[in-house]
Amino acid sequence: MLSYRHSFHVGNHADVLKHTVQSLIIEGLKEKEKPFLYLDTHAGAGRYQLSGEHAERTGEYLEGIARIWQHDDIPELLKPYIGAVRAFNQGKTLRFYPGSPLIARHLLRPDDKLHLTELHSSDFPLLRNEFQKEPRARVERADGYQQLKARLPPPSRRGLILIDPPYELKSDYQAVVSSIHEGYKRFATGVFALWYPVVMRQQIKKMCNEMQATGIRRILQIELAVRPDSDQRGMTASGMLVVNPPWRLEHQMKTLLPWLHEKLVPTGIGHARVSWLVPE
Ligand code: SAM
Repeated sequence: MLSYRHSFHVGNHADVLKHTVQSLIIEGLKEKEKPFLYLDTHAGAGRYQLSGEHAERTGEYLEGIARIWQHDDIPELLKPYIGAVRAFNQGKTLRFYPGSPLIARHLLRPDDKLHLTELHSSDFPLLRNEFQKEPRARVERADGYQQLKARLPPPSRRGLILIDPPYELKSDYQAVVSSIHEGYKRFATGVFALWYPVVMRQQIKKMCNEMQATGIRRILQIELAVRPDSDQRGMTASGMLVVNPPWRLEHQMKTLLPWLHEKLVPTGIGHARVSWLVPE
């Protein structure tokens, strides 16, 4: 049974990192006219109410998106993401947070397509309602990992695949690698963006070793830590592994990540890192 609900964590530092990278990849893909597919394997509910019981209970967004969305000096590179957040929040109060499918919907063009999958019995209907009138989108209650076999390559032969599981099951750390490997065999030019939490550093090292062992080239690693690594419970950092990143992403994130780190972690602890897990 699935117990993870993203509504408890929404808008936290990990969402800020993930959605920043997601928006920059989408903007990068939009530089070419040809339409593309946005495939979100673990899509969540779509829209989250920050004044709702779940988000209020943890208040994680207060140390995440709330610290930056109204900043006077938003870096240009952050504007697509922050623009999406602002589109859901008229006025000065941060009431709603758009999850990855809504950020994509905000940024995609009329001919681009979305394919969204979510398994949770409560989150799936919310996601489906959100996209009821969206002709570009297909929303399915289905296993996200299967989509990397079933939906690739897309007819347009261009695409971003966001893989954002809850890591509730230890097997998720292997499942992400094997499903990216499967997806890559079918669609070697696709952009695959995997999000991961750092709870136990050893687990991430193992996952990264397994990614390297697939033989896939061009994997950019982007990580933002809000605390030093620890063997106590809890997430100290999160990161993204991006296969075939748009050519500007490395430079963009090297510019942006120190700014995000400074704003999200005023004490300066933790780290901000952009490096190639596997180069060209
Ligand atoms: N991507 C979303 C965003 O950024 O707004 C958040 C997704 S949340 C981290 C992970 C979601 O995956 C949860 O809503 C959970 O119900 C769903 N999930 C868990 N296992 C799944 C599976 N095998 N296939 C599809 N969805 C799954």
